[in-house]
Amino acid sequence: MSGSRPVHTLDLLRWPILGRFLKWRHARTALQVPFLLAAALIVFDGLVGPQLAPKNLATVSVWLHYRGLVVLALLVAGNLFCMACPFMLPRRIARWLRRRLWRDGRPVPRIVRNKWPAVVLLVLFFFVYERFSLWASPWWTAWIVVAYFAVAFAVDATFRGAAFCKHVCPVGQFNFFGSLISPLEIKVRAAARCAACRTKDCIRGPQGCELALFQPAKVGNMDCTFCLDCIHACPYDNIGLIGRTPTAELWTDPFRSGIGRFSRRFDLTLLVAVLIFSSFINAFAMIGPVYALREQIGRWLGGPAPTVDLALIFGIGLVVLPGLLLAAAGWATRRSLPAPVEPLTAVIGRFIYALVPLGFGMWLAHYSFHFLTGGLTLVPVVQSFAADVGLYQGAVEWGLGPLTPGEWLFPIEALCLYAGAFGSLVAAMQIAHRRLAGETTPDLAWRTVRVAAPWLILILALLIVGLAILVQPMEMRGTFQGLSG
Ligand code: SF4
Ligand code: SF4
Repeated sequence: MSGSRPVHTLDLLRWPILGRFLKWRHARTALQVPFLLAAALIVFDGLVGPQLAPKNLATVSVWLHYRGLVVLALLVAGNLFCMACPFMLPRRIARWLRRRLWRDGRPVPRIVRNKWPAVVLLVLFFFVYERFSLWASPWWTAWIVVAYFAVAFAVDATFRGAAFCKHVCPVGQFNFFGSLISPLEIKVRAAARCAACRTKDCIRGPQGCELALFQPAKVGNMDCTFCLDCIHACPYDNIGLIGRTPTAELWTDPFRSGIGRFSRRFDLTLLVAVLIFSSFINAFAMIGPVYALREQIGRWLGGPAPTVDLALIFGIGLVVLPGLLLAAAGWATRRSLPAPVEPLTAVIGRFIYALVPLGFGMWLAHYSFHFLTGGLTLVPVVQSFAADVGLYQGAVEWGLGPLTPGEWLFPIEALCLYAGAFGSLVAAMQIAHRRLAGETTPDLAWRTVRVAAPWLILILALLIVGLAILVQPMEMRGTFQGLSG
């Protein structure tokens, strides 16, 4: 540190070309416009194009490419897809309307000023995605995109405070969750500069953070859309896009601006639990044994009941088992904690963050599978789309599809999962170590292991479950190989 300007080893905003671009006032718009055009093409092709998933831009780009690129961006950088989110452009009109017509609109009602709406929408989305095979329907995919624009517009035309991003958007919540392990963070460069700052434009100014993240007290990436507003708002150029140790924000539980303490936010605990365990349920739903299981449940129920059997699988996999496992691990950890001992929900709310890297690893493995099996499908789909609108006359290369040989898939997926499990083991030990900070007993290392042990066991058990799922043949959804079985 040199005076009030510490030199961060990695600050992307100080990079010559990239930094200048990101600090450009219209950088975000420049990123959003191509995504908005892509969304328009997706809706057009989804509604009027061929209704076969591997031949349609809507299904291929949304379910194969978008999801794969989102997890890769989160892994190597951060919440880049919220930064470039096309839903923000109509939101700007909504915000303008709100300010003109409704004197800046209403505050979000207290009862939903949390993550509950997002948790409900996420579970509903995961269920509907499986029940109605959304990946196979260009028409439904297009309507989901349209509905997204409409809801984002309606919510932000009514309520202030980036209500849609913070409380509603399921994609945003996934990105907040994933960015907890990312290597970059929007952060102040020098705390002393903020201490001397009188105006606090990063929160109070007209361009201050809509998500109520006050830079000097902001910790980590939760709720940060990487919108860069604060960077433009700060008159002292005191905010950077700064490198950090991936997963390190999971180890501590300070008071976070706009969020509070993780361990005191039961809604956040639930959101994180849903995203961790749905990574397993989501992958489980596309392997062979699940179909046998659903048929068996149907026989027990006296006939096919696709909604009920799937609801049972979701109920057990996303509610009953996670509830029991988290309660058991929290209870066991609580027994080995020194006084004063927190309530069980706070212990779970603290240690569940150790499972985030593993959950993200499972999402990464799953979405990488789809991306790698169908990555090149985009080429013939774009060729075909261009041919349909008279812009291309060459041959459509329908033979293109996988990005890697089939035998590479499982090793790549396993690597993602092992890396996630490693990150989780480290996080569990770090959380336990910090909880015991101040203890001076000679057997501190052993006590740390004892406090973390239930979570270490849970992580290893989930690793085995994850590998058992990934080793099964998976549906190559949205590809021609998938159609041919
Ligand atoms: S405006 Fe800049 S210097 Fe002032 S508190 Fe915010 S980040 Fe710190
Ligand atoms: S304004 Fe808020 S949401 Fe946007 S980058 Fe800054 S801290 Fe993140």
